[in-house]
Amino acid sequence: MTSSDGRHVQGPDVLAVDLGPGVRAGFTLRTGGVSRGVHASLNLGLHVGDDPDAVRANRARVRDWVGAPVGWANQVHGRSVVWSDGAERDAAGRDSLGDADAVLARSGHGAGVMVADCVPVLLAAAGDGLVAAVHAGRRGVELGVVAAAVAALVGAGARPERLRAHVGPAVCGRCYEVPEQMRDEVAARVPQAWAVTRQGTPALDLPAAVAAQLAAAGVGRVDRTDVCTVEDARFYSHRRDGASGTGRFAGVVAHRAPGSRTAG
Ligand SMILES: [Zn+2]
Repeated sequence: MTSSDGRHVQGPDVLAVDLGPGVRAGFTLRTGGVSRGVHASLNLGLHVGDDPDAVRANRARVRDWVGAPVGWANQVHGRSVVWSDGAERDAAGRDSLGDADAVLARSGHGAGVMVADCVPVLLAAAGDGLVAAVHAGRRGVELGVVAAAVAALVGAGARPERLRAHVGPAVCGRCYEVPEQMRDEVAARVPQAWAVTRQGTPALDLPAAVAAQLAAAGVGRVDRTDVCTVEDARFYSHRRDGASGTGRFAGVVAHRAPGSRTAG
């Protein structure tokens, strides 16, 4: 990370993605933060037993990277959306916008979701100054949280064909083994979720399902990272490391208000 005067400064490691002019978007890696032990080092989850001061320091680094205050929600595997209000933490010490799995933001405010195998989705309508970060696990796919987020953005004035989405790192269809009945239930709603593990057992391909849902919702362009969190140790993975405890990485996005000045 480079500051506005060109100095190298400590910052989070982020896989940046392009969602259009004026949009800063990316998926954080597990490196570039201050957390220790099983949470090392860029853990962004306050709910996984890490030192809250370390998590807040990590969130501040992410805020600096994205160039706007980032709103975080208490993710509950539902389909509710919430708007980022630009206040990451109020005077009462609140760290969350409330229960929701999609955080939406207008220009100058940021949105973030925490994951460790579930699918992080970033959305932006650059021309309309609207962005969203969505957490879509199996339940979120079944409930249609991605479509709910798109509908809320459209309700706020975004045109679907101008929306761009990026499906971030998540457990892949070859790694996400589930009972056969569960695969059948999810695939009945979203056929693209049907998958088989390397071992030939029933599985779900959530990134493919989410990409199909985004296309069905009319999103103009959908890109995918195609990185599996279980296989790629740069990311936290609950399935790989959850037994001993692990952290959460994030998808973060913000549209910079015209005339704003930020580092990097
Ligand atoms: Zn995999």
